[in-house]
Amino acid sequence: MSARRFTKILIVEDEYTLLEALRYNLEKEGYAVVTAVNGIQALDSARSESPDLIILDIMLPQLDGFEVCRILRKDMAVPILMLTAKGEEIDKVLGLEWGADDYMAKPFSMRELKARIKALLRRAAAQSGPQSAEEGVLRIDDLEIDPGSHKVTLGESVVTLNPKEYDLLVFLVRNKGRVFSREHLLERVWGYDYAVDTRTVDVHIRWLREKIESDPSKPRRLITVRGSGYKIEG
Ligand code: CA
Repeated sequence: MSARRFTKILIVEDEYTLLEALRYNLEKEGYAVVTAVNGIQALDSARSESPDLIILDIMLPQLDGFEVCRILRKDMAVPILMLTAKGEEIDKVLGLEWGADDYMAKPFSMRELKARIKALLRRAAAQSGPQSAEEGVLRIDDLEIDPGSHKVTLGESVVTLNPKEYDLLVFLVRNKGRVFSREHLLERVWGYDYAVDTRTVDVHIRWLREKIESDPSKPRRLITVRGSGYKIEG
């Protein structure tokens, strides 16, 4: 199971409780989650994060979900699942004009939502073929990761990582600024359902630091958060 690629979902929802419930449930499923709380932010995140799927609420501040969908559809093929309130025009949601791929009317069950997400992702993967895992370059200061070629560079020099170091780095960079416990990292990066031995994580963190920190004993990028876990500063 080398170089596992995390499927990233952008959730756009201005209702905080629902946003957090969605985030919790989708992260538990193993997805990397990014969020936006208004239409403008949604457009920004869609472009900078290149998500594999977007969950898009219709009623949003600044720019509503219809507008966001219409604008994204001009140049992005990402699957879009709309969240609608009762009474909104479903034919309009799914119609060619707006081009959402699917919708769910609120309130919906998480189980149903997860099934729809899986179906959309499967469909998208089937359409795009095996070699289209291409996405934008990830960057933190002079550290660059090209997920298309798996190439990692630090300034001018190429950094050679083993597959798990790579997966760990990519996961942390995609979720930069967020702290993850060792157990959480084991589950997300190694795919373990329970903590086998969290020292595995510490060892890989140490190896990564030797490769991406100028002084591994005083890390500036890959930070230990005492009592909580690790994060990438960004
Ligand atoms: Ca809303």
